[in-house]
Amino acid sequence: MTNATHPFDALMDITARPPTVFVRGEGAWLWDDSGKRYLDFMQGWAVNCLGHSPEIVVDALAAQARLLLTPSPAFYNEPSLKLAKALVEKSCFDQVFFANSGAEANEGAIKLARKYGALHKNGAYEIITFEGGFHGRTLATMSASGKKAFEPLFEPKVPGFRKARLNDLDSVRRLISDNTVAVMLEPIQGEAGVWPATDQFLRELRALTSEHGLLLIVDEIQTGMGRTGKLFHYQHAGIEPDIMTLGKGIGGGVPLAALLATEHACCFEHGDQGGTFNGNPLMCAAGLAVLQHVSTPEFLKSAADAGVFLESELQRLSARHGLGEVRGSGLLLALDLKLPVGAAIVAQAFAAGVLLNSPQPDALRFMPALNIARDEISAMIDCLDAILTKAGAARRVA
Ligand code: PLP
Repeated sequence: MTNATHPFDALMDITARPPTVFVRGEGAWLWDDSGKRYLDFMQGWAVNCLGHSPEIVVDALAAQARLLLTPSPAFYNEPSLKLAKALVEKSCFDQVFFANSGAEANEGAIKLARKYGALHKNGAYEIITFEGGFHGRTLATMSASGKKAFEPLFEPKVPGFRKARLNDLDSVRRLISDNTVAVMLEPIQGEAGVWPATDQFLRELRALTSEHGLLLIVDEIQTGMGRTGKLFHYQHAGIEPDIMTLGKGIGGGVPLAALLATEHACCFEHGDQGGTFNGNPLMCAAGLAVLQHVSTPEFLKSAADAGVFLESELQRLSARHGLGEVRGSGLLLALDLKLPVGAAIVAQAFAAGVLLNSPQPDALRFMPALNIARDEISAMIDCLDAILTKAGAARRVA
């Protein structure tokens, strides 16, 4: 084994990264170690809902760090009690289990559903998930995901996940058997390129799952915490799921996630679920500060308004450059590029100091801070406009 020589070499090479080191962030902006500034429309993949290093999160962390970091998950601590109470008050759920990542929260949801099946449905364990869905990178959550690229990896997969098609109720109905215990979906498939489940589909899915006594699990790791203009996306459809997972935005930049369930679905017994850092006061203090800020009607309205503005600006851009649809909701939007040029646009935007994401070759995804200012949206649009104009000119010359 050789010792690493370049500082990058000591990290496992798990993804392509630009050779840039980021050292500071503030609001919508990031700085690298050469002093170059970037306007950030990724925000850690929809994580920093209040932008980079927001004061309220920094203050909450500093105050809690001085008081208590980790007593033990075998004891209660104040921030986790307060955050759990606030989450159940603001949602249709009755109890919360805190986790450290979205995948871990989803593992918990899968385990809870299997436990429910063992206790109440003759050992039913299958969960119907969706083609194109993404639920994380543990073995079970990769197995639950419907991402094509995952299919050949890490065989054998965890069994018990059958894939339906989004917005196709019959495809769900056909998969229901005596082995089925739950249906699990992202209300908007983010990694797949921002493909929304319609409100009508969510309502029909709720009716179908209720009819068959199945649990409905919504993975709101990307759509929750105000991202789509309501605190939780399921509220748009006026439904009440049985289980919800949260991650990303809930910590405002720190590793925090949550599994929430209604009373009848809460069936873990002692020993079924746990984890050393789960519900630690430091992360929960950050989560509480974020929730108190994000859940106010004024904040949610301003985030929804920013989403409407971004959407209309993207539509204008699309019309100007002959691109495709703008889809998504609130501040989780995608622009259909019609051609597989996403990576090239992301690279050019990076050079110009704007951070964009292309989850699929033919789409750009926008997930800025929920408190993004209009002039920051306009600055990103101007940058994208210039890149698309140049690309159009190059195509005309070629
Ligand atoms: N579920 C959804 C919908 C996600 O978008 C993600 C992450 O992108 C996850 C689960 C996994 O979360 P984490 O990366 O925190 O494990």
